[in-house]
This record gives sequence, C-alpha cells and structure tokens, in this order.
Amino acid sequence: MKCPNCHKDTSRVWGGMVGWECDQCCTIYKKRVKIDGILTRNSPRIKQEREKYAKDLIQPEVYDKSSKKLKINPDFAKYYPDKVKNFFTPEQIRKQGFSK
Ligand SMILES: [Zn+2]
Repeated sequence: MKCPNCHKDTSRVWGGMVGWECDQCCTIYKKRVKIDGILTRNSPRIKQEREKYAKDLIQPEVYDKSSKKLKINPDFAKYYPDKVKNFFTPEQIRKQGFSK
C-alpha cells in the first residue's frame, strides 16, 4: 500500500489497537485505515522478523469507533482463520463477512 503521508510503498508495523506505523516516514496512524497486503519491499530477513512480530501482536478483535463495538480483526482472521470461531459466534463471523 501507499502511505497517505509520504506516498511511498510501505508495510505497516502493526500496533494492535493503536493503529499502525509507516516504516518509511514513521508516521503513526491511529485511525483505522484500510490496508491490503503486507510487507513488500523489505529484505527477506527483516520481512520475516516483521511478520513474526506483527503476528504476535495481532489481537482477535478491534474496536470499531463508528459502531462502538468490538469487531473481528481482519488480520487475525487472515492469519488465524481456524481460531476465529474460538473468539466469535458464527453469527458475528457471518455478519462481518469472514465465514468461509
Ligand atoms: Zn509514510
């Protein structure tokens, strides 16, 4: 993705509930930003470490300001599709579009 601030391709550094940080200009985004893909231009080693680090910090749910409810963290669903059902009811999963 491109960072809205520096317009460079960036991979965010995941910070859980906090948001994410651009690894190019170090801008910290606290708002929820739609992000697709992870980690594109780093060296394989850094990439691996970042991914590990990022995954360790992923929380199953995120706070959605507009609805004032916790909702399924899309990253969590991506990395741990098998575990989503341990944290959420089938209805929640279906409503939020993560059922497969
Ligand atoms: Zn940036």
